[in-house]
Amino acid sequence: MGNKLVAEIAWDIDQNQFKEQVRQMIAMARKGNNVLTLPIGPSLESILLILSQVNCDGCDAICCRVSPPDEMVAMTPSEYKMLCEKYGDEGMVSTRLGGAIKMPCRFLKNKHCSIYPERPLACVVFPMQPGGACGASFDSQPLEALAVASYCPEGRKITKAVYMTMWQIKQKIQAIGFEEASELLSKRN
Ligand code: SF4
Ligand code: SF4
Repeated sequence: MGNKLVAEIAWDIDQNQFKEQVRQMIAMARKGNNVLTLPIGPSLESILLILSQVNCDGCDAICCRVSPPDEMVAMTPSEYKMLCEKYGDEGMVSTRLGGAIKMPCRFLKNKHCSIYPERPLACVVFPMQPGGACGASFDSQPLEALAVASYCPEGRKITKAVYMTMWQIKQKIQAIGFEEASELLSKRN
């Protein structure tokens, strides 16, 4: 995982300015191999929603070939043991927390994962990354947040979509007032 980049977002600017601000934030994160923090708190539901938007069609499996400097795919002790027993330890190392797969990953064959059903959890949830404090929360208070790897094209696309959608919702809520908005959003029809 790259370093965390906590972006201070100015929400009260027009849509084009905001879009440019998000574009710069993404470019900066990509350049520095930072993770992109999303204005979303961590929960299983939000992780599922983010991951359901990832479409790897057409990608060259960047995440299985390269990684931020000195990084590897982390594994739990049981994942490391299972893969070593089944495939041998070539291309993998033991770590304090379990094990890790070196990049490029030995299991990548013809741009596909050859152990797909058995791949480590870190691969299943990629491009999700631990996010740290989110400077872009609704109330400007530090908030634990989800984040995505900036070197993943889908992570960048999702970041842009999430921030732009958040900006639109914030504008509407500010225009009609929080109470009216809450009432409307809580109605089923
Ligand atoms: S880098 Fe992102 S888009 Fe490409 S294969 Fe990995 S998860 Fe999919
Ligand atoms: S185990 Fe599979 S999904 Fe994970 S990095 Fe290797 S090839 Fe990619």
